[in-house]
Amino acid sequence: MAYTLEYKTPKSMMNKGTGFLTGYSHSLNPYAGCSFGCSYCYVRQMPVSTFRGKPWGTWVDVKETAADVFCHELRRAKAKGRVTIFMSSSTDPYQPAEAKERVTRSLLEVMVEDPPDFLLVQTRSPLVQRDTDLLLRLGDRVRVSMTVETDREDIRRHFTPGTPPIEARIRTLQQLREAGVPAQATIAPVLPSTENFPERLRPLVDRICIDDYFMGDGSGGKRTQRLGMRRIYCEIGMEEWYHPDAYRKVYERFAAVFPPDSVRISQDGFEP
Ligand code: SF4
Repeated sequence: MAYTLEYKTPKSMMNKGTGFLTGYSHSLNPYAGCSFGCSYCYVRQMPVSTFRGKPWGTWVDVKETAADVFCHELRRAKAKGRVTIFMSSSTDPYQPAEAKERVTRSLLEVMVEDPPDFLLVQTRSPLVQRDTDLLLRLGDRVRVSMTVETDREDIRRHFTPGTPPIEARIRTLQQLREAGVPAQATIAPVLPSTENFPERLRPLVDRICIDDYFMGDGSGGKRTQRLGMRRIYCEIGMEEWYHPDAYRKVYERFAAVFPPDSVRISQDGFEP
């Protein structure tokens, strides 16, 4: 998606983990805005987007000097207790701008020198693989959570045309596994998929997280409703997948292929 880039100097980088992120002491967003511009993105409904005056997905703020600010905050936070970080809650840390700007990489460099107790890297971008060297240095204190909402490329193109292809994400999970970086596949939000989906992921990850709008958008599905998601399902005649029970079908398919306890639902799937 075409987007404009602005450079901003942040006053702070670490936000307190609240609501859905109760398992985390902090969230960390290297950017504001996200050029992936997913149709279902709940951030569209949040003040960071609604007060911007430009459509979500068309603007990105690069947080300059983020690493310096973060370095001080991390040290202070660690002096107070356990630090568990969710990166990121309202942007994708490996969206296209990161290839050149390297803000996310600079934050990882800080964490390698002064590790938090746990870091979850939430992304849908193969670019995460570039930072394998740093992720490995964090050992079992890190987990990459790769969003793979469906195994159907036509569905991906319908709902999130600005995001990396499904095959590229699956290949990235393979590369992370070969390198020894802990990772999970995150089917969130659940989109229409095939019966073979679990078989595709089984050799690649030991942990699956399944979430949907009704459990995971922070408002019981109301934010998603306001985004008009039902219409996007209707356009392709798949309204039955826009339902609070639709995730169960996907859960049962995965539970039949993955070991017990490795298929987790909603908040539990993102826990440190
Ligand atoms: S990648 Fe995440 S933050 Fe970016 S638009 Fe999609 S859902 Fe929103």
